[in-house]
Amino acid sequence: MIKYELIPEQLLYEGSLTEDNFFHPARLSDEEILLTHSAEYLQKLMSLSLSRKEERNIGFPVRADLIERGRYISMGTYQCMKFAMEHGVALNVAGGTHHSFRSHGEGFCILNDFAIAANLLLQRKEASKILMVDLDVHQGNGTAKIFEHESRVFTMSMHGARNYPTRKEQSDLDLPLPDGCEDDLFLDTLKQHLPQVLDSINPDAVFYLAGVDVLATDKLGRLGLTKTGCQQRDQYVFVQCRDRNIPVAVSMGGGYSHDIKDIVDAHANTFRVALDLYT
Ligand SMILES: [Zn+2]
Repeated sequence: MIKYELIPEQLLYEGSLTEDNFFHPARLSDEEILLTHSAEYLQKLMSLSLSRKEERNIGFPVRADLIERGRYISMGTYQCMKFAMEHGVALNVAGGTHHSFRSHGEGFCILNDFAIAANLLLQRKEASKILMVDLDVHQGNGTAKIFEHESRVFTMSMHGARNYPTRKEQSDLDLPLPDGCEDDLFLDTLKQHLPQVLDSINPDAVFYLAGVDVLATDKLGRLGLTKTGCQQRDQYVFVQCRDRNIPVAVSMGGGYSHDIKDIVDAHANTFRVALDLYT
């Protein structure tokens, strides 16, 4: 998607970041994918033999280069967490593929980057308690289902109650919001729950899905946030984690405003806020 190229371009252009601030992730191996996804699903992906129905659920014809891209993005999310463990925060310019399940993809998601990164951390004993803070407008259904019985991963999803997916999975904490929800209600709900979750879970890693499809200008969002409200959301999450010394890795997630400039600006704001708070 074009926005994923425009985000770093914008940040470089305005001088918020330099080339040195970026890293190129390694390629995720099959073994690493299999910590999260089923062998049958991986085999279907690699042989490009998903059924038409399975492809329809994903939303586009699955090509080899898109799967390849997913490997780098997912590894990018894992490596972001490793950087965050050193520096406090690190952001993926893409990712947030939370509609991908163990054995199938959905909603434009093939591989689940948060789940893959979390399972790698657990397997390598680099984290023992992980929190997913999913503030994309769509429920993190794939992530919720993948970690349904995994007590080391707590899934929190705040999302539009009437938005996709119609059939929601059960996260450890779901915070459904009404259509048209504006800045105040959104931020109040977040403030009511996030500190408590952080204190009771006491995670050693937080994955934050900062989708900007919560904006009023979003074609699919149904909520009514302003760009300032969206920025305050990011700021709040970062401050809560920073003040508790918990590393945060961010993935961009959704954003479908009519004007691409709004999308890129709102995603770039997440980087700008992080820069402001961590440097
Ligand atoms: Zn979304």
